[in-house]
Amino acid sequence: MNEKRTKFLLDESEMPTKWYNILADLPEPLPPPLHPGTGKPLGPQDLAPLFPMELIKQEMSTERYIEIPEEVQDIYKMWRPTILHRAYRLEKALDTPARIFYKYEGTSPPGSHKPNTAVAQAYYNKKEGIKRITTETGAGQWGSALAFAGACFGVEIKVYMVRISYDQKPYRRVMMETWGAKCVPSPSEETKAGRDMLAKDPECPGSLGLAISEAVEEAVSRDDTHYALGSVLNHVLLHQTINGLETKKVMEKIDAYPDIIVGCIGGGSNFAGLFLPFVKDKIDGTKPDLRVINVEPASCPTITKGPYAYDFGDEAGMTPLLKMYTLGHGFIPPPVHAGGLRYHGMAPIICHLYKLGLVEARAEHQLATFKAGVTFARTEGIISAPEPNHAIKVVIDEALKCKESGESKTILLAHSGHGFVDMAAYDAYLSGKLKDYEYPKKKIDEALSQLPKVPA
Ligand SMILES: *Cc1c(COP(=O)(O)O)cnc(C)c1O
Repeated sequence: MNEKRTKFLLDESEMPTKWYNILADLPEPLPPPLHPGTGKPLGPQDLAPLFPMELIKQEMSTERYIEIPEEVQDIYKMWRPTILHRAYRLEKALDTPARIFYKYEGTSPPGSHKPNTAVAQAYYNKKEGIKRITTETGAGQWGSALAFAGACFGVEIKVYMVRISYDQKPYRRVMMETWGAKCVPSPSEETKAGRDMLAKDPECPGSLGLAISEAVEEAVSRDDTHYALGSVLNHVLLHQTINGLETKKVMEKIDAYPDIIVGCIGGGSNFAGLFLPFVKDKIDGTKPDLRVINVEPASCPTITKGPYAYDFGDEAGMTPLLKMYTLGHGFIPPPVHAGGLRYHGMAPIICHLYKLGLVEARAEHQLATFKAGVTFARTEGIISAPEPNHAIKVVIDEALKCKESGESKTILLAHSGHGFVDMAAYDAYLSGKLKDYEYPKKKIDEALSQLPKVPA
């Protein structure tokens, strides 16, 4: 490997043309999603009011590789393949013998990994004759990604945006509107779920779970409208594997393979998209020592503190029941700036891999993550979104451990996006106004007492 090279990039012609489906390779099958009414395993028809049949098939498929439609590949090529960077300047600042790489998804039009699935979802909906898609958004990244995808295929997009982010991040709303989408704050007066919450708490800052309830409620009430979810579900993680497949291919070319992969998890899609093609090697025994570290906020510690149980994906209890680590579907997380990580549940695939001991998890407080993000900005130049700052914190910790032990490990960071629309959060950090939130044990215990009962 040429030690002087800093950027590694596939040619467009080398871009993977299939997504990787981990369901083909799991050592034990994933616990099935359950119908919220009957508690029985869900059938494809149960999901038909929400999603196009092609996505429902992908959700349940156990085929190892799934073809990426040409129309989707063409749009991917607007910014893909993305660059794998070697973080020489960060390594030098830390004085570590570790080799740090990061795959950066911030160069997509909306600035994150999210269009990898938004584009695919808009495409399959359009193909099935759907005219409108509703969705929720936390920090605004998913809403803007779907707004961009809607513009690509001429599909109308309506976004319910978590109130706290709607107020903190007005520019994300303007991005959505620029791409032609409609964005309303959640809780809203437009749905029963929203009105019920406002009656209980007019000051409610909102939550992803509640915004999902609103978007789902609107989608099931109209024939021309479907719903799209930006994370958590199997088909979303599937679409994100374009990133891991690219990374694996480009690392092979330079004869490198990670010892440790680190990423942040909200619903788990960006990180799973990067690590799933690598975890395949751990499952089949070719890379038994590979370590995969999932990083979540200490104020919303889903995997590190929650029980592994069936729960709803949304606040009002309308979605199927998913077996996952959960803080309870009624849990409203403290308003940390990493809006994309404020979700009560987690992708069932990541939860299953964690349960099987194939991946690890850690929780970090926001002040420490911003400190790491500022170090990254001052060395590598990139101003990161608050979400990947969580992963950067752990990359720095691991690189410093290498310094102590003298080991030259290869660390791969999943860098999910830029922070240009998060400057208010940096302003709060730099002016000393940002604070940490304690682990909200009482609120979590309350929410967990509301877990649905399922037949054994
Ligand atoms: C949405 C988002 C996340 C969290 O979502 P995952 O599904 O866990 O990836 C992380 N980083 C960025 C930049 C995001 O926009």
